[in-house]
Amino acid sequence: MSKKVPYRIYLSEDQIPKSWYNLRADMKNKPAPLLNPATHKPLVYEELIPIFPSACVSQELDNDTRYIEIPDEVREMYKVFRPSPLIRAYNLEKELGTPAKIYYKFEGNNTSGSHKLNSSLAQAYYAKEQGLTSLTTETGAGQWGTAMAEACSYFGLDLTVYMVKCSYDQKPFRKSVMGVFGGKVISSPSSTTEVGRKILAETPETTGSLGCAISEAVEKAVTTENCRYVLGSVLNQVVLHQSIIGLESKTALEMYDEYPDIVIGCAGGGSNLGGLIAPFVQDKLTGKANPEILAVEPASCPSLTRGRFAYDFCDTGKITPLAKMYTLGSGFIPSSNHAGGLRFHGMSPILSQLYYDGYMKAISAEQTKVFEAATLFSRVETILPAPESAHAIYGAIEEAKKCIETGEEKKILFGLTGTGYFDLTAYQSYMDGTMTDYIPSDEDLEKGFDSLPKVD
Ligand SMILES: *Cc1c(COP(=O)(O)O)cnc(C)c1O
Repeated sequence: MSKKVPYRIYLSEDQIPKSWYNLRADMKNKPAPLLNPATHKPLVYEELIPIFPSACVSQELDNDTRYIEIPDEVREMYKVFRPSPLIRAYNLEKELGTPAKIYYKFEGNNTSGSHKLNSSLAQAYYAKEQGLTSLTTETGAGQWGTAMAEACSYFGLDLTVYMVKCSYDQKPFRKSVMGVFGGKVISSPSSTTEVGRKILAETPETTGSLGCAISEAVEKAVTTENCRYVLGSVLNQVVLHQSIIGLESKTALEMYDEYPDIVIGCAGGGSNLGGLIAPFVQDKLTGKANPEILAVEPASCPSLTRGRFAYDFCDTGKITPLAKMYTLGSGFIPSSNHAGGLRFHGMSPILSQLYYDGYMKAISAEQTKVFEAATLFSRVETILPAPESAHAIYGAIEEAKKCIETGEEKKILFGLTGTGYFDLTAYQSYMDGTMTDYIPSDEDLEKGFDSLPKVD
């Protein structure tokens, strides 16, 4: 008989993985290479190192090395906030009256309130090791900027964060937190860059977007000495660093002879989902097991469920490399949906390829339904989830409800990426009944698709 599963499964410090797992090594169809936006030729190492820290570029381009060692300095810092708990949602199961067994991996136990510190520490470490003195980045909801500020203060690097204007206005305390860690925060679009000034001139009323903040941060990095740009999602290297979430989850479940029937995550740029599912997709690719994989995205920014699989820019200003991904077009500016971390027009090329090849399913959810799920969850599980994470909760609850009808004891694993203390304006509007659902029309989407570059 198997042991009774506790509410919280904690791994010991030495069970923290020593290597990240590179899912690309096991993919038969590799994610398409990044292209030079001018020549449309695959980008090589030399072209990328002026933008990103060099070691990050090597990881970005490495489709073959299955396990990549976590540097000691990074693993030591991981020990401060990891392993993160895997929680059995007994209370939620009971509340729903479902025979399903629900597990969630909680990544909100650090000041960024999200999984993002897993990658920011790695990127800051590599920058420091290379002798760089400063970094730039963008942030949507603020979690990535905070995670990067935490990492930069630890490794002694200066940081400039371009923060999407609507979040900057909605979450003033996010700026203060980044400030505590020494990060300099600028509302984007701003007049500090050429691309920002151009966007402001064309659309003075804009509330900004991740795509636009990325343009600004990249421009700033390449025009500043000893400075590089770092990105908190979408890129292959970020999915690599986040594999620690999936590796820890798998080990924790194995201690109780458990294996998920379905793995669910929210999808913005795809990093937490890519990391959570990595070892489970490995099992699918190698024929060891066949769990379902489900991405949940906002109905207001539906890149997987309504986007095109095409080469596109990662930013609004069209200065970044081209990535082949499910995209709504870099010209698509999502409505100011509260789940700021999911307001990105594209999707990780790794996840896009897996989705295209049928290894993963996707659904979209309207935000009032997402907040309903978040509220229900917080009342029984005591954690106030980030709106982004609540998309995964929504997906898990929907699956658990199906089990009520079928009587199936499905094992559900989902990623609870973070906490929502900075999202109380959104929670308040949900409680006040003033929250609205915005779903772009086909026409709105067509406009975004019109901005896709022509690549043969
Ligand atoms: C950034 C963020 C996300 C979305 O980003 P992914 O790269 O898709 O994982 C989800 N949840 C939280 C809490 C975040 O901060």
